[in-house]
Amino acid sequence: MAYSLDRAEHFGQNGYLDTRGVAETAVPFTQAVVDGLAQGGGLYVPEALPTLSLDDIAALAEMPYAQRAAALYKAFNIDLPDEAIDELMARAYGDNFDDAAICPITSLDENTHILELWHGPTSAFKDMALQCLPHFFGASAAKLREEGTLDNEFMILVATSGDTGKAALEGFKGVEGVSIGVLFPDGGVSDIQRKQMVTTTGDNVQVWAVRGNFDDCQTGVKRTFADEAFARHLIEDHRIALSSANSINWGRLLPQVVYYLSSYAELVAAGRIELGDPIDVCVPTGNFGNILAAWYAKQIGAPIERLLCASNDNRVLTDFINTGTYDISDREFILTSSPSMDILVSSNLERQLFELTGRDGEAISRWMADLNEKRRFRIDADTFARVRENFSADSIDNDTCLATIREVLDAYDYLIDPHTAVAFAAAQNLRGDNPVLIASTAHWAKFGDNVYRALHGLAPHEALPAEVAALTGCELNGLIAEETGKDQIPAGLAQLDAMEVRFTEVIDSGTEAIEEATDAFLSR
Ligand SMILES: *Cc1c(COP(=O)(O)O)cnc(C)c1O
Repeated sequence: MAYSLDRAEHFGQNGYLDTRGVAETAVPFTQAVVDGLAQGGGLYVPEALPTLSLDDIAALAEMPYAQRAAALYKAFNIDLPDEAIDELMARAYGDNFDDAAICPITSLDENTHILELWHGPTSAFKDMALQCLPHFFGASAAKLREEGTLDNEFMILVATSGDTGKAALEGFKGVEGVSIGVLFPDGGVSDIQRKQMVTTTGDNVQVWAVRGNFDDCQTGVKRTFADEAFARHLIEDHRIALSSANSINWGRLLPQVVYYLSSYAELVAAGRIELGDPIDVCVPTGNFGNILAAWYAKQIGAPIERLLCASNDNRVLTDFINTGTYDISDREFILTSSPSMDILVSSNLERQLFELTGRDGEAISRWMADLNEKRRFRIDADTFARVRENFSADSIDNDTCLATIREVLDAYDYLIDPHTAVAFAAAQNLRGDNPVLIASTAHWAKFGDNVYRALHGLAPHEALPAEVAALTGCELNGLIAEETGKDQIPAGLAQLDAMEVRFTEVIDSGTEAIEEATDAFLSR
């Protein structure tokens, strides 16, 4: 292969390769974070993975979470000073989370453990990465500017169907040298999701409602990214480059590896398992970032045996893991009760396949070209065998999802959100004898309407009774809390009705409107 390891030695650091074998040399961590996507359209992966011994992993339980995260970043030998890593991690994982453990584990029974990834400011698991990445993005850009390889600042543009937008706003607000604009479909997000976004504080943030649906938003943002004349204008007039910081950024993936190593250590420290015992991990999966992080944790040394991939009715990953063919040529996008997993093209799968082919950039390029042209690709028998060694997959329909919320509440007096319910139900179907760690990716109060349907036996998508439909999102959560006794609603969700609305602008979805709005924001 064309990769040179010399460059990594030159940096004294672990460098990053791209999954399509296009780049001739590896780039350092800071460059990979600022770039997001590698040249040629591939994704960055680390040249080498650290390995931690069982004792190293067990020792993580003795440190606060921020130090665990710092320890892993140092093990990856990233090109920022140790003191900077410590300081950035202290900012990423501190009292911005409502639990000192950051992502505590609740054990439902001896062998079923729920990893609660929603204690961050927006109550969804994307905070685990997006409270961390922006600090490293800011520090990486600052370092590259100091070295003279970069002389601009950044504006992050995000099109969101709900969850990502708020998590990105909270993560990037106040970060120096970066501003952020989020576009959401007007009328296309829940009352809670809209209020979460339009009440965001901070000077470097902007939120627009867009006339159209999520697809219109996303297309508008993609076209804006592709408009070279606009890019030139932004650099010349504002010294700003656009960036997306989306979930394919390595800087969003690495923070997720931390919690799988860390939670293994916690299960040992709590006496739930013996050091070295195998566990399985079940992840409600959309873009394949979260479950890929678990796979990396396994490579690094966590005794994870099987990775259980849970999908909703958009079951492209289930079918892929069961057949070796990824096929969206005849597949409709389905709106489900777990909307954050509604996805057809699961972008982080590319990284997983790169690793499982033994880092064969040519094979990945071919498959990605097939996906682009024929809307399907088929992996070779060896790679498929490796997929089967690591992964099991199942898809859970809306009825089962809602029924599971009710069953788990009845059986364990524990209320879960629809995404976690998909994982719980899949884990029941796929598990063997190992203890299972289930990734819980959102607080139930983010999806109160579907939780209400679950608790009242309404069908998926069935209209709520008029008096319930008339409630605000906060009021509906209050009602559910009253009915279930689950009144620990995170402050960031409970107080939304009382917060000042800062952003009311509604714009068209065309490039012109988005560019005009962006320009006006940057000229403020
Ligand atoms: C984003 C998201 C997922 C899917 O995670 P991936 O890393 O994209 O697989 C699952 N649940 C919730 C609540 C999410 O916000």
